[in-house]
Amino acid sequence: MPVSALTAAYDLPPATKTLEDHRILHAFYGPVPAGQRRTPMRELISTVLSHRTTHRDEELAYERMLETFGDWQGVVDAPTAELAHAIRTTRWPDTQAPRIQEILRRIKAEFGEYSLDALAQWPVERGLAWLTDMPGIGLKTASLVLLFNFQKPVLPVDTHVHRVAQRVGLIGPKVSVEKAHQVLLAQLPPEADVLLNFHKHNYWLGQHICFFSKPNCPACPLKGLCNYYLEHYGPASAADLAAVAPEWTGEKLH
Ligand code: SF4
Repeated sequence: MPVSALTAAYDLPPATKTLEDHRILHAFYGPVPAGQRRTPMRELISTVLSHRTTHRDEELAYERMLETFGDWQGVVDAPTAELAHAIRTTRWPDTQAPRIQEILRRIKAEFGEYSLDALAQWPVERGLAWLTDMPGIGLKTASLVLLFNFQKPVLPVDTHVHRVAQRVGLIGPKVSVEKAHQVLLAQLPPEADVLLNFHKHNYWLGQHICFFSKPNCPACPLKGLCNYYLEHYGPASAADLAAVAPEWTGEKLH
């Protein structure tokens, strides 16, 4: 196939590019293992603690909190200043402490226990609305819990996924992180397994290759698809361009 036909991959519609991004990264990283590593409560509270905080410091805060106060009821009953001290490795402990107590109170009031398991039975929209109504919980955190723990067809978009999606051209340059949740979701099959893999793969790419300040484009498997690459390096090599599926790059595009 001539290179001119292959370079048409850069001009593919965003929805088609999104599927191709998914296919290429799935082949590059391999399938994300199924099964949830954390309980829904841990996923929710840890994600709140993780805001602008390293994974190590988030884990430290979580462990200290439960060691100090014993269980969720102990966390709710604790003096807020003491809770803030226990989670002091997080970025904003004085803000997070009252938030965590309020989140726990709402969970107990809704479900009668400190458990989110009943969300499994809720429709997606109801779950998202209820979770995002809580202090400090945005669409990303709510989507993480519903996708990771309950296999609901939602797509969490963090700064890594957002950055990759914009550079490759899966979303427009003015699409916000919030808005990208819906835009990207509409461009993917509504299957939890696909959405989990898409989220994780683009997250890993953003963390380890598509850095914020200096993306390591030569090492990236998306060279043949990515608008940023085309703008900064010109068309990728024939071999890299050929990595884009032939069905998207044939004569029909011309
Ligand atoms: S080619 Fe470069 S800019 Fe594009 S996704 Fe890969 S690392 Fe990011």
